[in-house]
Amino acid sequence: MPQRIYLSSPHLGGLERGYVDEAFASNWIAPLGPHVDAFQEEFARCVGAPYALALSSGTAALHLALQLVGVGPGDDVLVSTLTFSASVNPIRYLGATPVFIDSERASWNMDPALLCEELEARARAGRLPRAVVVVHLYGQSADLDPILAACGRHGVPVVEDAAEALGSTYKGRHPGTLGRAGIFSFNGNKIITTSGGGMLVSSDETLIRHALKLSTQARDPAPHYEHSEVGYNYRLSNVLAAIGRAQLRVLEERVAARRANHAYYVSALSSLPGVTFMPEAPWGRHTRWLTTVTLDPARFGADREAVRLALERENIEARPVWKPMHLQPVFSAFPCRGGQVAEDLFEHGLCLPSGSNLTREELARVVEVVRAVHQGR
Ligand SMILES: *Cc1c(COP(=O)(O)O)cnc(C)c1O
Repeated sequence: MPQRIYLSSPHLGGLERGYVDEAFASNWIAPLGPHVDAFQEEFARCVGAPYALALSSGTAALHLALQLVGVGPGDDVLVSTLTFSASVNPIRYLGATPVFIDSERASWNMDPALLCEELEARARAGRLPRAVVVVHLYGQSADLDPILAACGRHGVPVVEDAAEALGSTYKGRHPGTLGRAGIFSFNGNKIITTSGGGMLVSSDETLIRHALKLSTQARDPAPHYEHSEVGYNYRLSNVLAAIGRAQLRVLEERVAARRANHAYYVSALSSLPGVTFMPEAPWGRHTRWLTTVTLDPARFGADREAVRLALERENIEARPVWKPMHLQPVFSAFPCRGGQVAEDLFEHGLCLPSGSNLTREELARVVEVVRAVHQGR
């Protein structure tokens, strides 16, 4: 068997051990410490956010963000349907109801026109959602301006799920920093990793302070342990923050490498009939965290699943595009506005190996398999 090629595997930069050694030497083996503080400051500067809070996962960050914009039992929250389940689970933790919004073709992200329709209909019915969660998929920003404008008109806070979009831009700014709050993930497969971790950002200092309190078991200021609300254990370890600081320093190199993977795939595969790459929308930089294609079986001569299985036989990991949330057994009872675009992208879409540590030989192996399927070999 040839060596396995992963979809997106951790890529260490070389500085991590030095930072981690420092954490050990100083004995800050705890969910607080100098690396946590420094990681927050450096991350905030990197994305242009006034305040950042390091947490144990992106999911934890989204949970706190939603609670702090006021989401609670019985509320409705509008959210992109084409995403990973972690965008939606925290809505359910809070006892609220997700209402899904379909994607548009230009970016594969939330369709601003459908969002506007949903908000208008709800404003007329007197049932506005408590929040909107907009997801920035596969390394590309959603079209934020019309989304923020529509939500602003109705006074609905926007929480950005930028877990997959660190390093991308929207009109020169960083998605994740334009709504009321934004979240990022440092899971092992993301563009930078701490093995596991997340970040909550906001320009609202009060929100971040409250999130800090909730993430550390909600202790009130008192010499003894005093609690007036329910807290969580959601802080990031100082050891993992050390890894994150080193990873952040190579973020631009990681974006460049992933974009180079994408350029290679485009040059090798875009001439094949029925192969279409996820578009880069005109409003900013797509990091190509994952290179994703859609395959039209009538023109390509095989469907997405045939290509995925052929890759798997060569020990190459590829994945279907996210299965839309409105099709998931756990969420299928909840409403969805539109859905056809996301369903179509799921049916035909494939994520190709995209790690920043892939070699040209590995990329060539992937291309060879895709070409062979097309040629019926
Ligand atoms: C990875 C991911 C998350 C969750 O982040 P974790 O750090 O794994 O909890 C949330 N939303 C999206 C879109 C993701 O891809």
